[in-house]
Amino acid sequence: MAPNCLTGTCLCKNIVYRIMLPTESFPKVIICHCTNCKRYTGSSFSANIIVPKSSLDYIKGSPKMYLDRSDRDGQVMREFCSDCGTPFTSSSDDQEVAVKSGTLDEEHRLNCAELAAEIYYHRKDKWVDDIGNEDVQRINGSMG
Ligand SMILES: [Zn+2]
Ligand SMILES: [Zn+2]
Repeated sequence: MAPNCLTGTCLCKNIVYRIMLPTESFPKVIICHCTNCKRYTGSSFSANIIVPKSSLDYIKGSPKMYLDRSDRDGQVMREFCSDCGTPFTSSSDDQEVAVKSGTLDEEHRLNCAELAAEIYYHRKDKWVDDIGNEDVQRINGSMG
């Protein structure tokens, strides 16, 4: 049976959050390819789970908030750790929040194993399609 709560933290572990899941099932992952998510994550896309804002609590420390503009000119609140720079969330309304799935504790992250959607798909970087391509060298561990 699914636990009713997910936890996560940042690199420096000064901030810890907890999500009380509204349902029995684990949230699915939503990838965002928008230009600002590329910058925010330093990667080519962000990976998120969308949960009700009321279900997310910071149980240790509190993140800094950056007020961003979306492509549609709305406001996007982006929370991050001001000590280590880890991005936690983005949200554009009072109801839902996108939690960066890479910040979940391993046991919980591994349970959020299904991809539900890719948004801003037209902004997808070309190389992303090569993930999983068998012609690409696979290395377990680092290159250096
Ligand atoms: Zn941190
Ligand atoms: Zn985005």
